[in-house]
Amino acid sequence: MTPRILAAGAAAGRRLVRTRPIPYGRHLITEEDIEAVVEVLRSEWLTTGPKVAAFEEAVAASVGARYAVSFSSGTAALHGAVFAAGLGPGDEAVTSPLTFCATANCLLYQGAVPVFADVLPDTLTLDPAEIRRRVTPRTKAILPVDYAGHPADLDDILALAEARGLIVIEDACQALGARFRDRRIGALSHMTVFSFHPVKHITTGEGGMVTTNYPEFARRLRMFRNHGIAQDPHERSTREPWHYEMVALGYNYRLSDIGCALGLSQLKRLEANIARRRAIAERYTAVWQGLPCIRPPTVRAGVSPAWHLYPIRLDLAALPQGRAGVFRALREAQIGVAVHHIPVHTHPYYRQRFGDQRGAYPVAEGAYEELLTLPIFHAMTDEEVSEVLAAVEDALRRASHPEG
Ligand SMILES: *Cc1c(COP(=O)(O)O)cnc(C)c1O
Repeated sequence: MTPRILAAGAAAGRRLVRTRPIPYGRHLITEEDIEAVVEVLRSEWLTTGPKVAAFEEAVAASVGARYAVSFSSGTAALHGAVFAAGLGPGDEAVTSPLTFCATANCLLYQGAVPVFADVLPDTLTLDPAEIRRRVTPRTKAILPVDYAGHPADLDDILALAEARGLIVIEDACQALGARFRDRRIGALSHMTVFSFHPVKHITTGEGGMVTTNYPEFARRLRMFRNHGIAQDPHERSTREPWHYEMVALGYNYRLSDIGCALGLSQLKRLEANIARRRAIAERYTAVWQGLPCIRPPTVRAGVSPAWHLYPIRLDLAALPQGRAGVFRALREAQIGVAVHHIPVHTHPYYRQRFGDQRGAYPVAEGAYEELLTLPIFHAMTDEEVSEVLAAVEDALRRASHPEG
């Protein structure tokens, strides 16, 4: 993402003129990060060197999991987890429709079928009762999404999976650093998937990770991200020295040493990044929880979200100009609002492939109509937060009058 550029004159101490919007999210790169990357550029290894193992160990330790396997993106990591879980043609996995399309796409890559289940009205994460309704004899996995960084209802989901012998692949691409009942997200589900895209909590440019406590999943993940080539050192030592065996159809999904060096440096600031995001969320919520036209995001008891997004819900009955009116007014005020997410089953590809399921997930679809994502990122300044607060107040005032 391009950094916001302030017009010349800032250095001279004149008033700053905003020439780029405050984005909904963006990365922060320090001099220390740059030095860490440069060090790799001067080294023997650009890819699959010491930084990969070091970053994997650091992420595993950070989330409290036994294993962490890096991938070239969060999407590739999701694909790897679906492979490691053994899902194939005809198998079903229950997932949320209110997510980025990659969550469901990763099942299709392996020939498996995403079966959507509706979400809870407060957190907009998978509703365990709805999962139960959608489970069939073909169901092999549940893919909960930690929407906006708020953990899914993991107690119920893990109990349900246990009772039915299902594998839980948690899409925590929005939830690195979140806590559920005082435990880090990353070692609760069978596999947990993270993304290091620049809008997320730490970045490697592009990158992702699967964390797990199960050695067999870790082994399959490592094989899958390296063309399906078996990694067994015993096998190698008993054969010709050049021998290796490709035993499954894998991909080149490796994350480079360059990316991992950046990730290692960024990971040092994860706690600080989350703390900053939480402080911004608290400031927003304190102002907006009393307002009639806005519903701030819910935080359930015992949960500490990672605040990837700050999605509000608008009371459309009080806003004759609708969400589009509020959206337009905020974009005009240079506030980079967005909408997360267009329900996956409503995308043309999914409608063509699986039939038009619109209307089948009323909570997700209803929430989608009201959702608006406001800027939240760790580099956001107090002044930028104030600007957003003022712009939202103004936009709501304008949108609450009929047009014209
Ligand atoms: C960001 C994200 C992904 C994809 O991650 P990439 O690293 O961009 O491939 C998948 N699922 C969710 C919920 C995400 O937010």
